Amino acid sequence: MSETNLKDMQDLVSLCKRRGFIFQSSEIYGGLSSCWDYGPLGIELRKNIKDRWWNAMTLREDVVGIDASILMHPEVWKASGHVDGFNDPMVDCKECKSRFRADKIDLAANCPVCGKSGTYTEPKDFNLMFKTQMGPVEDSSAQVYLRPETAQGIFVNFLNVQSTMRKKLPFGIAQIGKAFRNEITPGNFIFRTREFEQMEMQFFVKPGSQMEFMEQWKEIRWNWHLENGLRPERLRWEPHGPGELAHYADAATDIEYQYAHGWGEMEGIHSRTDFDLKQHELFSKKNLKYLDAEDGNKKYLPFVIETSVGCDRCLLAVLSDAYRVENEGDKEKERTVLKFSPKVAPIKVAVLPLLKKEKLAAPAKELFNKLNKKYPAEFDVTGTIGKRYRRQDEIGTPFCITFDFDSLEDHAVTIRDRDTMVQERVSLDKVEQYLQDKLQL
Ligand code: ATP
Repeated sequence: MSETNLKDMQDLVSLCKRRGFIFQSSEIYGGLSSCWDYGPLGIELRKNIKDRWWNAMTLREDVVGIDASILMHPEVWKASGHVDGFNDPMVDCKECKSRFRADKIDLAANCPVCGKSGTYTEPKDFNLMFKTQMGPVEDSSAQVYLRPETAQGIFVNFLNVQSTMRKKLPFGIAQIGKAFRNEITPGNFIFRTREFEQMEMQFFVKPGSQMEFMEQWKEIRWNWHLENGLRPERLRWEPHGPGELAHYADAATDIEYQYAHGWGEMEGIHSRTDFDLKQHELFSKKNLKYLDAEDGNKKYLPFVIETSVGCDRCLLAVLSDAYRVENEGDKEKERTVLKFSPKVAPIKVAVLPLLKKEKLAAPAKELFNKLNKKYPAEFDVTGTIGKRYRRQDEIGTPFCITFDFDSLEDHAVTIRDRDTMVQERVSLDKVEQYLQDKLQL
């Protein structure tokens, strides 16, 4: 048996559409560039990833969660540096008017869109924040931004959370939420979009101890990706060198994944010093210092280790990693299968009566109803059994249960393993235990 990995992102895009994971936004109107809608299976997969992140981050004594609003006081973004500094230098092709990030194209070469000899405008800065109006008056005082990151919602709530939850350093605040960036060159499916979701955690520590915690969080975050089923050889560290560090960071590293379009950042782990809290003190004129009762009532601004992962980039990695084509080119034996870890698989089990006949379908439905109370499950009677297996393979369902004529006599069913395609006969009263043991959720 031969097995090939995902080679072309387009294959994944079409599987995601065909099987109800991800659709282009507003497709019937021709679509909206780089915006995507998650379908029924996509949303289950996404929910599994978010739940796994949330549980890994908050089922600990030293991390609590929040959910801050997307619209924030405009001063927040002045304090954070986004109003002045969140810019990418851009050029326009003078021929076809396409816009590019100046640092991402060869300005001496022909335009990659129209192919004409590249004459570009001078690079100009372009702020990546989306602006909108709040309230009925369209003047600049009512101008607000869609948040370009969730982190600032955590920083401005640092003292609220610390005091109400009576937290002592070190402790963290976790959040999952949408962020918006008017990216100049979005693309590669859901890798770079203008609306995306972040899963961020800010861990507040005593100044001087940040490197110790940075190391701890690096290990935790790396292992979390492995536990989602990603293959270790497709992950790598990409530390930021001294010249690449953001102005606020004293250390930073990314976890990159080998996507079909190449290596790309999936998660950033940053030591952000006390930059953000200091800025918010300055701009809000509020005292945000922590009172350290265990260190002679000293007052200081904590340092921060941030872990920031894009939910959509993580999901793209999980999908890309799971995607395999077996026996490519062999008409009889070729199959596409998403080899998800059962932990993230959107559907855990499918119940397939061999035939549509009521005699088989009714007891099979009964089994499905029982299982579906415990797991996201599917019941499918349409088409040949072979086609139904192929569909479940393509959506990554770990187990298919077939109810056949023998089942009526021996009160047992056939359970097929997605990856090995090996089938086992299991007595009906043992099915739940069998799944529990195999799925290991
Ligand atoms: P890049 O260099 O790829 O633009 P970044 O360094 O600006 O990313 P961060 O600001 O560190 O990204 O954001 C943290 C995480 O949010 C990233 O690791 C990524 O997973 C996710 N993310 C950032 N921008 C986007 C986007 N436009 N679309 C999808 N996910 C994104």
